[in-house]
Amino acid sequence: MYRIGTGFDLHRLAEGRKLVIGGVEIPSPVGFDAHSDGDIFFHALTDALLGAVGYGDIGELFPDRDERWKGADSSVFLKEAHRIVREMGYSVVNVDGFILLERPKILPYREKIIKNTARILNIDEKSVFVKGKTYERIGEIGEGKAGVCQVVVLLKKEEP
Ligand code: MG
Repeated sequence: MYRIGTGFDLHRLAEGRKLVIGGVEIPSPVGFDAHSDGDIFFHALTDALLGAVGYGDIGELFPDRDERWKGADSSVFLKEAHRIVREMGYSVVNVDGFILLERPKILPYREKIIKNTARILNIDEKSVFVKGKTYERIGEIGEGKAGVCQVVVLLKKEEP
């Protein structure tokens, strides 16, 4: 039996913040302005995993008013969502997502993002993919004021 999950995230970009995507710190004059490290890929993926099993969402599990998550490494959220999914008897088949970010380009960091994600989910790197796209200079995303991520995940029920 299969279950599919989808996740979405957006964060504003601000000066003096680190730009972290998929656990990779990417050199940039601006980074995501968020309570945690603002990793839009790990946030969207966490929501996709939780949604696939109907468990809840990232805001319920890790509220941004909780001091524990201030500046948090978002791999903590992803690891916990993965633990929940495994506990409910599912394993991850594959992950696919895209990141909308005007700059910098994601491509040079894609392999590292895939590697980090595959390691956390304990799956083959071939089962994780992510694409970087620009927003063609349209609106706030196109002006580089924010970044967006959407992720889809497929889960499979393990044989008892
Ligand atoms: Mg977020």
